[in-house]
Amino acid sequence: MKASSRRQWLRTVATAGLGVVGSELLNRSGAKANPGSEAAANSQVNGRPLQLKDYQPRSMLHVPETHVSRSRFPNIDFHSHLSWIDRKGKRNVVHHAAKPEEILQVMDAKNVRMMINLTGGYGPLLEETIRYWQAPHPDRFIVFTEPWYEKIIIPNYSQFQADQLESAKKIGARGLKVLKRLGLYLRENVTTGPLVKIDDRRFDKMWDAAGALDMPVAIHISDPEAFFLPIDRFNERYEELSAHPDWSFHGKDFPSNAELQEARNRVMARHPRTKFVALHVSDSENLPYVSECLDRYPNMFVDIAARIGELGRQPRMARKFFDKYQDRIVFATDATPHGDETPQQIFGNELYEIYYRFLETEDEYFDYAPAPKPPQGRWQIYGIGLPENILRKVYYENAARLLGLKT
Ligand SMILES: [Zn+2]
Repeated sequence: MKASSRRQWLRTVATAGLGVVGSELLNRSGAKANPGSEAAANSQVNGRPLQLKDYQPRSMLHVPETHVSRSRFPNIDFHSHLSWIDRKGKRNVVHHAAKPEEILQVMDAKNVRMMINLTGGYGPLLEETIRYWQAPHPDRFIVFTEPWYEKIIIPNYSQFQADQLESAKKIGARGLKVLKRLGLYLRENVTTGPLVKIDDRRFDKMWDAAGALDMPVAIHISDPEAFFLPIDRFNERYEELSAHPDWSFHGKDFPSNAELQEARNRVMARHPRTKFVALHVSDSENLPYVSECLDRYPNMFVDIAARIGELGRQPRMARKFFDKYQDRIVFATDATPHGDETPQQIFGNELYEIYYRFLETEDEYFDYAPAPKPPQGRWQIYGIGLPENILRKVYYENAARLLGLKT
């Protein structure tokens, strides 16, 4: 396609309206010339113009494709969900997404030395999680605990939660995980009432305890910036939000992304002895802002879980970011066994190979998720080809230091 007709093509797509790729443009590329061809058949689905959701363009670039089957150095996957707390009738129960053996097989093949199962739960549920994952394989699985939010309604929740952390540590939990539930879902009466703020004073004792007990806090706050905007034709995550409208935080009483980030910053400032790993690069669309935060808060770290789609579409900026903060970035994938709802997180060989390709090669324009369509926005990514000394830190050493393992 000539450059001028490509521009016209882009204009046609842009004006074709949401969800529909103009039939005109598809007719132009092949259908008219070969009415009986497969192209003609594929430009129509059930007699209707091709829908955006069915569009799966294949890149015609002739560029190197490197298959990285094992990470250059053994790694620690700092962010996974091997189990989580589920609701069964009126009870909370632990849901194990897989058997340890199934996970270990992929870990061995892909050079993953350890996995952190962040969503380990609390109280007796945490005990069960540790018994299932960490106790039989202490050098392969680490479990984090979570706040017991249902107790926020009890008097003296502050002290209760700090004590919980201490008991969690005693039975083997190695860190604290805070889901985006804090700031976006947790309310004064758990599910009703005003939202509880991230820097609510009731958590001060918990943050302090985490520091005193040497338990890093893996904190996920906010979400992609597009999730805070209307789900309309300008939204770069339109397809994803259309499939999951409940992921949108636009309107209602939700705070803005900036407010959430700033509330987290106030927590880090108030608890300088506590180490915070801001998950998903904190705000991966805005690396200048994340850099400012890292400069301001020496107790802040970031993981890259489920955000190579963002980092890889700004490879030059990302590469500088890794250079500058090479001691504070940890390898992580957000891997979820059988996580079909979120293709960018499906645990398996392919997921790891994509991450390794992004970190280790300078390959251009490739898929960031093991899925037929890019699930977090319609773009491809570029590898950042990190040097060995940075790879060692990001894959293993930084996480090992946070977890008190030997490096
Ligand atoms: Zn996660």
